Amino acid sequence: MASSSYSNSPCAACKFLRRKCMPDCIFAPYFPPEEPQKFANVHKIFGASNVSKLLNEVLPHQREDAVNSLAYEAEARMKDPVYGCVGAISVLQRQVMRLQKELDATNADLIRYACNEMPQPSQFGRRTNHGGGGSYDQNLGFYNPSPWNNDPYGGGQDTGDGSNFQ
Ligand SMILES: [Zn+2]
Repeated sequence: MASSSYSNSPCAACKFLRRKCMPDCIFAPYFPPEEPQKFANVHKIFGASNVSKLLNEVLPHQREDAVNSLAYEAEARMKDPVYGCVGAISVLQRQVMRLQKELDATNADLIRYACNEMPQPSQFGRRTNHGGGGSYDQNLGFYNPSPWNNDPYGGGQDTGDGSNFQ
């Protein structure tokens, strides 16, 4: 009942290593002869005996995932011998951080627009002598009882008093 599908053409690993591909070859299910580069990369980066050991330590149903991740890491390491797949990870992490900041800023803008539907500029942080619609503000400047205005010279800036009256 032994499978004969691998008897004719050895798996990519055995072909690469120039050895006979036995029916119980640990590599055969994961390194088909049609993908010779997959094993070549993995062998170059990790070594065939390490891969064989690793596959034997992993449960059979997890071996395909293990081989796929080894192949991914090996290919990344071939392209970028210094950073390997860590290079791709840090690029993506920076991208996530940049997009998170952009999202936070956009959400803050949305909140600002939703809370401040009036077309005139914000009352907070404005000088009291701003132009239209705030004439009474100019009279408050000097002897203002507001605890916010502690400036002994009555600079009259940034009191925020106008907002308390509305
Ligand atoms: Zn084989």
